[in-house]
Amino acid sequence: MPGGQSPVADEAEQFEPSWVRPADALARHKQGSFFIIFPTIRTLERLEKFATVDAVLAACATEQPLWTSCPRAGLLHGAEARYMEHESPFGELALVCPDGQMLHPLEWHVDQPVPLLKNVVRLTAPNAGVMTGPGTNSYIVGDPDTGYIVIDPGPNEAEHIERLWRATGGDVRLIVCTHSHADHSPGARPLQALCRTHPAILGLPSAATARPASEFTPDRAAADGEVLAVSGAGRSHSLQVLHTPGHAANHLCLVLLEDGLLFSGDHILNGSTTVVDPPDGDMTAYLESLDRLSAACDEHGIEFILPAHGYVLGFAKQAIAMLKSHRLARESRVVAAMRERPSGTLEDWVELAYADVPPRMWPVAKRSLLAHVQRIEALQLVG
Ligand SMILES: [Zn+2]
Repeated sequence: MPGGQSPVADEAEQFEPSWVRPADALARHKQGSFFIIFPTIRTLERLEKFATVDAVLAACATEQPLWTSCPRAGLLHGAEARYMEHESPFGELALVCPDGQMLHPLEWHVDQPVPLLKNVVRLTAPNAGVMTGPGTNSYIVGDPDTGYIVIDPGPNEAEHIERLWRATGGDVRLIVCTHSHADHSPGARPLQALCRTHPAILGLPSAATARPASEFTPDRAAADGEVLAVSGAGRSHSLQVLHTPGHAANHLCLVLLEDGLLFSGDHILNGSTTVVDPPDGDMTAYLESLDRLSAACDEHGIEFILPAHGYVLGFAKQAIAMLKSHRLARESRVVAAMRERPSGTLEDWVELAYADVPPRMWPVAKRSLLAHVQRIEALQLVG
């Protein structure tokens, strides 16, 4: 408002007029001393970024909307839970409830399949942990007329394998592993053994660089660009294979062509950061694979990413761009650390380059740090 205004309450929706800066209102709300409803909180969060009223008015001068915002709601333990675009469950709610229905339960459980689309179901393995988040997501693609493709059967957990078997009625036509790691591929053989259809196991064999615990040999290597399809009753579900080394040398992603969905394995996660652990992991390969996935988003109109850990991600291309810029930002911190201590070791550099990460995470961070250092040295970024 212009200066010199005295607000008067209408005593119906407004009661105690007072002037307050957006940041102060939000701070008081956080302390619990100032009740504000959800839309007002979001509006104040945006307004907080402008230093003055004039700055807001100047921004409005173009008559372009300053922002558009469409929160989405799901159910958490029976209660309504709302999320903005940048929050991790948003993409899943957008995929499952495109018209904004508040129906989708968001708590993680392992005992029953979660329908995402008519032909895509998620079953999370009972292996939640620091490295696996809520657990490994196994995906089932197909319908009763076409039979099913199972992506990442997960660890060899008898109950989980049986749930996959039950959710598909035993009619698994193919099993695909995104990579060899112990939380992704060991369930493949037992699932194959359980199914009367004896589905082939596809993927890429683990490379010589893989750790002994990550050895994996598929029945057949899935070729880059190959389309794996199931069909019946005039419908088909086709998964195109994209080789995406970086997290693991034998990593692949899958594009569900009919629905424009990307199954990203561990290359892209929701709620955690992909570990790039040399020698099987490689930072330059990781970044190049991100570029490849971004191009696939353009080619196939992909808006949603289904990761092996965490909820569905929305805004696929932006999410990939953000991941890349985070990696490059980390890389420049590592470059700075290496310049500051030219004769330093990984122990020295991790404290500098990962100062924003809790020290208990440094042992894991050091693996990714090594990947950065190898890339930096290969590209001679530290002069
Ligand atoms: Zn994993």
